[in-house]
Amino acid sequence: MTGRSAADLSPDDISFEHVPASDQAFENALAKARDGDRLTVDDAVELLTTGTDRDGIDRERKEAVLELADRRRAEEVGDDVTFVANLNNNVTTACNVGCLFCNFKDTAHQFEREAQAKRRASDGSSGEQSDPRDADHDAEHAGFTKTPADSRRIVEDGLDMGISEVCSVSGLHPAFALDDEHHEILAGYDEPAREVNYKPPAVYETDPGTYVDQIDAMSVDGIHVHSITPEEAYHARRGTDWSYEDVYSRLREAGLDSAPGTAAEILVEEVRDVVCPGKIGSGEWIEAMEGAMAAGLDTTATIMYGHVDNAMHRAMHLKRVRDLQDRTGGIREFVPLSFVHQNTPLYEHGVVDGGASDAEDELMIAVSRLFFDNIDNIQSSWVKYGDAKGLKLLNCGANDFMGTILSEEITKRAGGSYGEFRSVADYVEMIDAIGRRPVERSTDYRTKRPINVAGDSDDSYGPALGPRADGTPLLPAADEEPVAADD
Ligand code: SF4
Repeated sequence: MTGRSAADLSPDDISFEHVPASDQAFENALAKARDGDRLTVDDAVELLTTGTDRDGIDRERKEAVLELADRRRAEEVGDDVTFVANLNNNVTTACNVGCLFCNFKDTAHQFEREAQAKRRASDGSSGEQSDPRDADHDAEHAGFTKTPADSRRIVEDGLDMGISEVCSVSGLHPAFALDDEHHEILAGYDEPAREVNYKPPAVYETDPGTYVDQIDAMSVDGIHVHSITPEEAYHARRGTDWSYEDVYSRLREAGLDSAPGTAAEILVEEVRDVVCPGKIGSGEWIEAMEGAMAAGLDTTATIMYGHVDNAMHRAMHLKRVRDLQDRTGGIREFVPLSFVHQNTPLYEHGVVDGGASDAEDELMIAVSRLFFDNIDNIQSSWVKYGDAKGLKLLNCGANDFMGTILSEEITKRAGGSYGEFRSVADYVEMIDAIGRRPVERSTDYRTKRPINVAGDSDDSYGPALGPRADGTPLLPAADEEPVAADD
C-alpha cells in the first residue's frame, strides 16, 4: 500500500532520467525495420517519435512507419482479424494499492465500513470505527465483491450464450488468499493488516473466497479461464516463501488456463514510482510472468501508456517484454492500452491533462508490430480506442480486435465511453467493412474459425468455439435487447 495520492504530485515535480533521445537517425531505424533487422531501443524511440531530430510527429514519416507495420502484419499473420467470444467476470473492486491511473478500485476500508454499518444497524451497537483510516473514506461506493457461487452462475450464463473464455481481473481484496493454508499463514502474522495487507473475510460483508475457490468456480465445462495477473499472483503469495511457479501451478490445478500480463503499465521504475508506487516493481512483474510460464500457462503482455511516460519509456518497455519472450516463448499476444484519463486521480489533480494523441496510438501499435519479431499477435483494444480508431489500428500493424467482453467494469468506471459489449455480428460487420476476414479464435490462438460473411451482414452470427456454442447469436436481435455499447 502507498500513502501517496495524486494531490501530492505536480507536473513540475516529475522529471525523468530517461528521455527520448538517441544516437540513431529516423531514416536508419526505418531502413532496419524495412529490412527486418531486430530493432534496438534507440530504433524504437526514433520510430515512436518519427525522429528525435524534430519536434512533434512528422506526418509523412509517421505514414511510412504505419505502412511498414501494416505490411509486416500481412506478411507475418495474414489479413485475418481475430477476436474471442469472452466474458469479463471481475470478482471484486476492493483494493488498497492506490494506483493513480485507476478508478476501478474502491478502497477496501469502504467495504469494511459498510459491513460494520450494517452490523451496527442490526445489533444496535454504537459503532466505533475500528480503523482510523475509515474517516478518510466515503462509505458510499458502487463497488462489488462476488462469491465463488456468484462467479459460477455468471460463467454458466456466459457459457449458455456461447462464450469460450472467461477473463477475470480483480482488485487486491485484503481477505483474498490463495487457499486455506494461505489464510492460516496470513492470520498468523502479529499485525496482518499492516504487515501483509490481510484482514479475515469475516470483516467484510461478502467473502470472495480464495483465489483457488474462484478459479475452480469459473472453470466450468472446459471454458478457458484467463486470470491472475502478476499483481494478483503477488497478492496470492504475500507473506509466504512460495515461488510464483508454485502459486500458478496451484491455480492451474484449480482450472486456470492462462494469465493476463496486465499490471505491467510501463516496466520502468521511474514511471512506476509516479503512477503506481504501491504496485510490484518491474523485476517482480517479470518474475511472476516467468513463474506463470514455468507452470505451463500461456500469457499475454500489455503496456499502458499515454500518462506521464515518454517514448523512451515505451521503447524500454518493449525491450523488456521482447527479452522475456526470448527466454520463455509463452506470450501469445501483446496488447497496447492507451491511458483513459477521465475520472482518474492523475487527471483530476492536474498531473496529466489528457491521454495519448491519435498519432501516438497509431505509432505505438505500429512500432509494437515492428519491434516484436517474437510475438505474432498485436491487439487493437476497442475498449481503449473506440470502434473507429480501433479499426484504423488494424491497418497500422494490429491483427486482433479483442473480445466480446460481455461485461467490462474497469474501463467503464474510468470514464471510457466505448461501451461494454461487441456481438459476433458486430465484429463481422466491422471487420468486413474494412475488407478483412473475421475469424473467431480461442484465447491461445491455437483454434481459429473463419467466418463466412453473407452478402448482407445481419445479426444471425454467433460464437462457435465455446463448449456450449452452437452459432446462436450472443444476444437476441438488437430491437429486442438494448445493447449498452456506444450509448
Ligand atoms: S490498477 Fe489494479 S492494483 Fe492498481 S488500484 Fe486499480 S485495481 Fe488496484
